[in-house]
Amino acid sequence: PKFVYAFAEGNKDLKDLLGGKGANLAEMHNLGLPVPPGFTITTDACRAYLHAGEEPTGLREQVDAHLAALEKRMARQLGQPDDPLLVSVRSGAAFSMPGMMDTVLNIGLTDASVAGLAAQADDERFAWDSYRRLVQMFGKTVLGIDGDLFEERLEAAKQAKGAATDVDLDADDLRALVGEFQDLVAEHAGVAFPQDPRTQLDMAVRAVFASWNGERARLYRRQERIPDDLGTAVNIVAMVFGNLGPDSGTGVAFTRDPATGQPGVYGDYLANAQGEDVVAGIRNTVPLAALEELDKTSYDRLLDIMRILEDHYRDLCDIEFTIERGTLWMLQTRVGKRTAEAAFRIAAQLADQGLIDADEALCRVTGAQLAQLMFPRFAAIGEDSPDGPTAIARGIPASPGAAVGRAVFDQATAVAWAARGEHVILVRRETNPDDLAGMVAADGILTSRGGKTSHAAVVARGMGKTCVCGAEDLDVDARARRCTAPGGIIVAEGDVISVDGMTGRVYAGAAPVVPPPVVDYFEGRITADDDTDGLVAAVARILGHADRRRRLRVRANADTGPDAQRARRFGAEGIGLLRTEHMFLGERRKYVERLVLADSDDGRAAALDALLPLQRQDFAEVLEAMDGLPVTIRLIDPPLHEFLPDLTDLSVRVAVAEALGDPVGEERELLDAVRRLHEQNPMLGLRGVRLGLVIPGLFAMQIRAVAEAAVARIRAGGDPRPEIMVPLVGALRELALVGDEARTVFAEVSAESGTEVAFPVGTMIELPRAALTAGRIAEAAEFFSFGTNDLTQTTWGFSRDDVEASFFTEYLDAGIFRVSPFETLDRGGVGRLVALAVAEGRETRPGLGLGVCGEHGGDPESVRFFHDTGLDYVSCSPFRLPVARLEAGRAAV
Ligand code: PEP
Ligand code: MG
Repeated sequence: PKFVYAFAEGNKDLKDLLGGKGANLAEMHNLGLPVPPGFTITTDACRAYLHAGEEPTGLREQVDAHLAALEKRMARQLGQPDDPLLVSVRSGAAFSMPGMMDTVLNIGLTDASVAGLAAQADDERFAWDSYRRLVQMFGKTVLGIDGDLFEERLEAAKQAKGAATDVDLDADDLRALVGEFQDLVAEHAGVAFPQDPRTQLDMAVRAVFASWNGERARLYRRQERIPDDLGTAVNIVAMVFGNLGPDSGTGVAFTRDPATGQPGVYGDYLANAQGEDVVAGIRNTVPLAALEELDKTSYDRLLDIMRILEDHYRDLCDIEFTIERGTLWMLQTRVGKRTAEAAFRIAAQLADQGLIDADEALCRVTGAQLAQLMFPRFAAIGEDSPDGPTAIARGIPASPGAAVGRAVFDQATAVAWAARGEHVILVRRETNPDDLAGMVAADGILTSRGGKTSHAAVVARGMGKTCVCGAEDLDVDARARRCTAPGGIIVAEGDVISVDGMTGRVYAGAAPVVPPPVVDYFEGRITADDDTDGLVAAVARILGHADRRRRLRVRANADTGPDAQRARRFGAEGIGLLRTEHMFLGERRKYVERLVLADSDDGRAAALDALLPLQRQDFAEVLEAMDGLPVTIRLIDPPLHEFLPDLTDLSVRVAVAEALGDPVGEERELLDAVRRLHEQNPMLGLRGVRLGLVIPGLFAMQIRAVAEAAVARIRAGGDPRPEIMVPLVGALRELALVGDEARTVFAEVSAESGTEVAFPVGTMIELPRAALTAGRIAEAAEFFSFGTNDLTQTTWGFSRDDVEASFFTEYLDAGIFRVSPFETLDRGGVGRLVALAVAEGRETRPGLGLGVCGEHGGDPESVRFFHDTGLDYVSCSPFRLPVARLEAGRAAV
């Protein structure tokens, strides 16, 4: 098999094979852009290597051939003593995993060739600095030696010299460091640093392959839901040097601002440096615009190339480049990560420019991104508002959002505190891939060094986490677990701070948060035209297209008039789940207690009579808010014990009262009832339709309340469209009995009121037996609504109330699932039951209405499944409605 591709043989669509970096290097090469010569080893080779533990047959020969071609083209050989060809060995998977895998630069330098490099470059210091970097990177990534050991030596050398940065170390200092680093290698790896260039190359390639399974890479993939079996490609590219003096340098550029999406010149540049220095945020960079003064020719050329790339990819591109003594080289490009806000603006702008059509614009944004735009942000805080929280520092707004939490200064504390439910902000001088677990755990990330392209910024944006970086006024002392702001203000571990990813401001204390403009727009408080920065207009435009495209209707899960009104503003086309039990809580609990305690028909009737007008009023309000739209009212569902006092509390109360000789008559009765109704597995016990069949009159009361509320609405000139939904049905007969009861009540209310009323009666499908017998159940059901919460619980046998906190982390770690099945529908199991019930239900009753009202109705991935399965609507919480609309639109294009 072909394991190695020359750049000329690849293109941008071969990401799976060549990785993102390799595919795009090939694409740029083919566009005639200045890419240093090189070649790519495929992900196939990586997978074969990881599987067998050794290079697949043929790989070595193919590398030989491509290396020979490269040497010929460059007219020198890898590590040639008098004029060495040096190469970089870089990982590059199909999905970008910034900083998660390994890279080794300057392969080919040895004790012999370092002199040749010095002579060729006419720069002794440069050659030893390059060699120093190679031994360090090779030691850390290929030989697995703790990177701090090298950093400590480097730091010591700087101190001995009184040097502020590594640029102040001269050739002799660096030569001495190389010696020390080689000793470190010998001591800690038990082998000498290899002096054969080809051995260096082979070892580096193997290390890059192996880094696919490194701990950080695995964690990142789980977070980003990237499959584990893809492998990485390896790019071997002739080195170009950004560290050859002041007319050299390296940088990162974006064709648009990845934080806001606005077009312009964005990026960071670092003179006399190699790429790692920028990405790791180790030295402070200058804005890209400053390059215009340093090297106008390269700057103009770079801007040209950025235009070419954006037109070619029709999207925001990010770029890594190096300038070697005034010559510009492109080291990487890709369609860049961006914030949610930028994603919407860019999609709308490219559609305006005619570069993409409306469908394409819709596909460029996701429901998850829209959800992010609906998170709260900080209220505008005046610069010196006296009673507001104090601004203590300002950095670069790298990833938007409003994070409030306790400051922590290392990743382990972040993880530990987050696990006990604390909100934390991870504060670091800069982050590196080892901080990843802490970044995942934190609500926000704050660093004192690095620009918009530092590791912290790039990773936080990818995760949708609030991040402020480069807050240089902060002196972060991770060891002492605190940082100091100007004026001597100290933030110690555990102190609450607020980090504003929009403005870059950092506050001591908790700053007040407000709804974001997108929510103000959905709420009708502003219009798309009020918007000054184009975000709301972009969302409105793309969501409008989604609404035109989608086949799925969207309904809301809402229980009260105000909720229903909000749902309507957010685009609800009805209510898919009104949970009536929410109307039994609070004040009304006592009526339910009476209902349960009643030992006679009269007592029960009295309790039901007390509840009837209350329910009627509730329903009337919701029907009014949803006038003209369907409102699916679910009869009471949860286990009775939820409405009764806690068994233990009550036992204690009664026991204490009895011991004191106090009267306990009523409490005693209640306790007996609670004991009688106590269940080991209440979610599998007396609830749902079972409750309705066991407590006579309960469902009839609710159905009557619905019918009477509808009559009142009709008399008031309204258009009420309630639907009665029965929960937890497992057998046709259960539903049939309730259906009969409903029709009796409808007839009674029609006769009493003189207004003819009759409404659809349907069922939830939330037990495996209901799904498996859906063909039968459809005989009595006018509609199905999938209760995927209970269906997931009962299909997996996972208790929905406590299992997620119990062992799901282990299950996720072990790869049993990628994401909680309570969050994203389990297609292979629960999804098959849904599909079966859809097919068999429709066979019995072709016009059967079909919807879903479990939490999955608002989950972006699951919405797509429901579209594919042919449901009529999804129902979700009001706040998720825009997300569901968007995803339903995306599913339809
Ligand atoms: C369900 O089970 O999916 C459902 C919507 O009902 P509830 O969450 O109220 O049990
Ligand atoms: Mg349910």
